[in-house]
Amino acid sequence: MAVGKGWEGVVLKLLRGKDFTFTVTGAQDVTEHYRRVHFTDGGLLAAAGDSLHPTMWVRVWFQGAGKPHQRAYTLVDPDPEAGTFSFEFALHDGVASEWARTAAVGDTIDATVQGTGFTAPDPAPERLLVIGDPASLPAVNSLLDAHPATPATVWLETQHASDADLPLRADADRHDVRRVARAGTALVDRVRAELPALVADPESAYVWLACDTATTRTLTAYLRKELGLPKQRVNGLGYWRPGTGG
Ligand SMILES: Cc1cc2nc3c(=O)[nH]c(=O)nc-3n(C[C@H](O)[C@H](O)[C@H](O)COP(=O)(O)OP(=O)(O)OC[C@H]3O[C@@H](n4cnc5c(N)ncnc54)[C@H](O)[C@@H]3O)c2cc1C
Repeated sequence: MAVGKGWEGVVLKLLRGKDFTFTVTGAQDVTEHYRRVHFTDGGLLAAAGDSLHPTMWVRVWFQGAGKPHQRAYTLVDPDPEAGTFSFEFALHDGVASEWARTAAVGDTIDATVQGTGFTAPDPAPERLLVIGDPASLPAVNSLLDAHPATPATVWLETQHASDADLPLRADADRHDVRRVARAGTALVDRVRAELPALVADPESAYVWLACDTATTRTLTAYLRKELGLPKQRVNGLGYWRPGTGG
């Protein structure tokens, strides 16, 4: 996917609220806590056309306790010509994870396109500053793919020993990856200690972050209020809520 402007164009507005049915064509356990599931797209990608963008996600409906639950998942390697894409599931408790663990060829799920959008940073940053975790890894990868020539520093929060084998699309020449084991405020502390040295000018720095909601909120406030980055140079979205039941 190339980076451009105007993702939230006419096509995406037309798509908003539209439903699609995805069919499983295969699945692999990437690690014991991370599973990739391949799909045919039910027409989604052709309908999305030019509005496909890095970090694009859809709301997927999973059945649990007799009712549907909406969960957000990121499109991995969408191929509009083939009409295929994958999801990568960070596995834990929950209806989406349960579905993913047993997903098999021929299974179907419904999804709605809603609320997704991405504005490419303009001017382009000299270095991407990215903070994520297993749930946002697909989005992080799409961001790195979309900026193939831009160096990046990535702080990746990990939860399991097997997270060392997560498929982060980092290139040792351009990407500086800093793994931080999840424990209390460890990620916030590391970012506060290390990120300022990488910000020569707050106006031109660019930070993309997606962790649990509390961590994302704390770091977004830090970047905006303490480091003085402008609103449009901090792209933060909480991806999951710690400790809430499904
Ligand atoms: C825009 C967007 C895109 C996203 N893309 C992806 C993606 O591509 N892949 C992906 O794996 N996730 C992604 N997420 C996160 C995913 O939607 C949430 O993790 C969701 O809560 C999972 O639903 P569930 O039914 O499995 O668990 P839930 O029923 O929501 O939660 C059950 C329990 O699991 C815990 N839990 C939920 N998520 C996590 C987690 N990530 N790590 C540890 N514990 C957790 C909860 O605190 C709760 O205790 C995305 C979120 C957003 C907002």
